[in-house]
Amino acid sequence: MKIGVLALQGDFAEHIAMLKRINVEAIEVRLPEHLKRLDGLIIPGGESTTIGKLAVAYNLMEPLKQFGQRHAIWGTCAGAIFLSKDANRNQPLLGLMDIKVERNAFGRQVDSFEADLDVPELKQATGTNEDYHAVFIRAPIIESVSGDAKILASAPDGRIVAAQQGHLLATSFHPELTNDTRFHKYFLSLVD
Ligand code: GLN
Repeated sequence: MKIGVLALQGDFAEHIAMLKRINVEAIEVRLPEHLKRLDGLIIPGGESTTIGKLAVAYNLMEPLKQFGQRHAIWGTCAGAIFLSKDANRNQPLLGLMDIKVERNAFGRQVDSFEADLDVPELKQATGTNEDYHAVFIRAPIIESVSGDAKILASAPDGRIVAAQQGHLLATSFHPELTNDTRFHKYFLSLVD
């Protein structure tokens, strides 16, 4: 299995390190041809406007949309925003997932926080019982899901922070910044 990590901006190196820890081949994706022969793609956290602008500049928008029709993609934080159909403002979006997001919904950088989340699908898929300790950094919330998208996890205040639509996954938080490999393994289970 070979997984790409979109490496235009943001914390792509942490995702690659996490994939290597669980013995998965991981490569940096910067150009359309890098998507060839990949089984799945992770879009990291960072700044969604910057990632979007660079994806336009590198002619990646159409190739990424096409990749997402057939293959698993997981967006973390800014990556989740980039996967969404609607971010309440005008910026380049892949529009692959039927989710509406609100950027910086928990406040500014100083309002970043950590929380334990109950993620039933994750527990079931990985055969574990522990809650998932999630790191939120200027995180978006998923304001609403529609179509085939379903809610995977909510923050303690009830707002949606993880969603899945078939082989597409969106999390507001940053599993690559923890030692818990379960979310990466869960994503790999969506790769066919
Ligand atoms: N605040 C960023 C945005 O709106 C996301 C932050 C992150 O990825 N940690 O794009």
